[in-house]
Amino acid sequence: KRLKDLNVADTTCGYCAVGCRFDLYSDGEEILAARPTEEEDAPVNGISTCVKGKFGYDFINSDDRLTAPLVRDETGEFREATWDEALTRVAEGLGQIKEQHGGEALSVIASSKATNEENYLMGKFARQVLGTNSIDNCNRLCHSSTVAGLAKTYGYGAASISTDDFELADCILLTGSNTTEAHPVLATRIKQNVRDGADLLVFDPREIQIAEYATQYSQINPGYDAVWINAITRHILNNDLHDEEFVEERTTGFEEIKESVQEFTPDVVEDVTGIPHAEIVSAAETIAEADRCVFGWTLGLTEHSHGTENVMAMANLAAVTGNLGKPGAGVSPFRGQNNVQGGGGDMGPLPDNFPGYQDIADDEIRAKFEDAWDCEISPEYGYYTTQMFLAADEDDIRGMYIIGENSALSEPGVNHAEAVLEDLEFLVVQDLFVNETAQYADVVLPACSFVEKTGTFTNTDRTVQMVKQVMEPKGGSRPDWKILQDLANRMGREWDYSSTAEIMREVKSLTPIYGGISQERVDREGGVQWPCWDDDHPGTVRLYEDEFNTDDGKAHLQAVGYSEPAELPDEEYPFTLTTGRVLYQYHTGTMTHREEGIMQYTPSDFIEIHPETAVNHGIESGDLVRVTSRRGEVVVPAQVTDRVGPKNVFIPIHFAESAVNRLTDEEHLDPTAATPEFKVSAVRVTPY
Ligand code: SF4
Repeated sequence: KRLKDLNVADTTCGYCAVGCRFDLYSDGEEILAARPTEEEDAPVNGISTCVKGKFGYDFINSDDRLTAPLVRDETGEFREATWDEALTRVAEGLGQIKEQHGGEALSVIASSKATNEENYLMGKFARQVLGTNSIDNCNRLCHSSTVAGLAKTYGYGAASISTDDFELADCILLTGSNTTEAHPVLATRIKQNVRDGADLLVFDPREIQIAEYATQYSQINPGYDAVWINAITRHILNNDLHDEEFVEERTTGFEEIKESVQEFTPDVVEDVTGIPHAEIVSAAETIAEADRCVFGWTLGLTEHSHGTENVMAMANLAAVTGNLGKPGAGVSPFRGQNNVQGGGGDMGPLPDNFPGYQDIADDEIRAKFEDAWDCEISPEYGYYTTQMFLAADEDDIRGMYIIGENSALSEPGVNHAEAVLEDLEFLVVQDLFVNETAQYADVVLPACSFVEKTGTFTNTDRTVQMVKQVMEPKGGSRPDWKILQDLANRMGREWDYSSTAEIMREVKSLTPIYGGISQERVDREGGVQWPCWDDDHPGTVRLYEDEFNTDDGKAHLQAVGYSEPAELPDEEYPFTLTTGRVLYQYHTGTMTHREEGIMQYTPSDFIEIHPETAVNHGIESGDLVRVTSRRGEVVVPAQVTDRVGPKNVFIPIHFAESAVNRLTDEEHLDPTAATPEFKVSAVRVTPY
């Protein structure tokens, strides 16, 4: 078929949050081509899409795609139902719990795969219709500690820069980010700048592919990030290599952090992080000598029981070196799912915030939403996702509505999560497939993918971009916003949105940082970066050029002391397990496992084991290995490689058969952000 004869939509990738724009071509039955958009001003442009954005569309027509609602019959098996029957069952199931135990006994897990408009409605549905503040999303499992740490230090819990700044930097520090595999197009741009002469510093427990490009690669023991970051800051401060003028004029708390970093002496640092002092010194001096440095990270920094402190240590380092508010300098947490920035945070499917990070405990703000949504809202924060599963043990949560999340694989300690899902009084799952979570549901509602609906996503650098429908919804599936609207009306409300553009107008009217953002404008301009205060505001390419988003306009440096992982290796469990992503898979695999071509590359799980460990245990590549933690065990084939250190092992997160989260810990959460410690679990490794 010729491209010119096909339907085409200029849209945004539904995989990672780099947010590549491309034209998708369809004959109405399937996606036949993806071509990078040629819009000159498209925020992420000029580089080809990665393998997932280009080829990852088989899942849309997969044989097991849900095309009708499912309800459990008297025998406990699923049977197909009409929308009317299924929605009635949901309204009754959730309504009954609300009536008997109050709305607070219900919780919603929102979807970072869904559009901004849909996530806004999920927050509204939870508070207005169900009467609960216990709504959260996958952000809790990944970057909520970034949001908390950056918000506390600078005011906004988001990237301060644009993706373009990676090409303007003289120096890039990357940590806890397997950029080549998790954010491929961004990695390409970083590598291009390195080829052009920029320094690249990589700190990671694994010698990942992008480390080949590094000026310096330091292999770290997982769980001690604040230690090595503070050690770099200490060297800079003790040798007067900091930006005095920036510190003087634009920060508070300098003396406190200067004192607090003194405990991170070379001996302490070498001992716990494994990084030789010379590498701390060379990294510190490279950063200090650079005119423009970008600090980038992913979940290796955040998925810890002290992730917020790790992020604050990094925020301190960027501030004392004056690397904020200018081209090629700033902080950039790379968000994972396509719309975790917008759907997971900005739109307020959160237990403590309305859209635009407006605090629900603030009386004036709460009154604004109570007025707009015509309901009473409690000022008490609800449960974070990780806390919902613990609260269910105490019967404080009795019903859940899970949209586009696969909690039975993605929660920490999934043996516990499965038991919770099994015991819930009522569970609704809204998804494209009967995923591992849906297997516990009372009702499963069939939703649409991003190619079957229109709305907006917000990518990792705060750019709001259009998502456009190029195919009709498969079978009887429906977009999330239409399902929510129907359900809200069955539960006593009168929603009558006719389009997602109309929903976005409501978001705009209630959300100052989106005050100038409408679908019409986003479509016209290709993308708009928040904060965008009104229709005349150009949007914000770079935060903090003039002032920080704090009460006094200054960055509030935060003293961060010594901390260590909640679970340390010991005689019984001598190795530290870390988890992560691979290029050819995406999260729990609901999309990529249905891609025939992609599955040929990484069809199954593996554990990376250092050669020394392999020899000591008599293990060779390909051998099955039993991996045991205090929470459970999995069996997985070995890959013997010195990519990991001798005390560490690594397993990807993508496979149900050997679900790595059977090993991780659901109880030790970051005290501020409630992020789990996915990146450190003590395990034992034995031949199977
Ligand atoms: Fe999609 Fe991310 Fe790949 Fe771009 S880099 S095509 S946004 S998965």
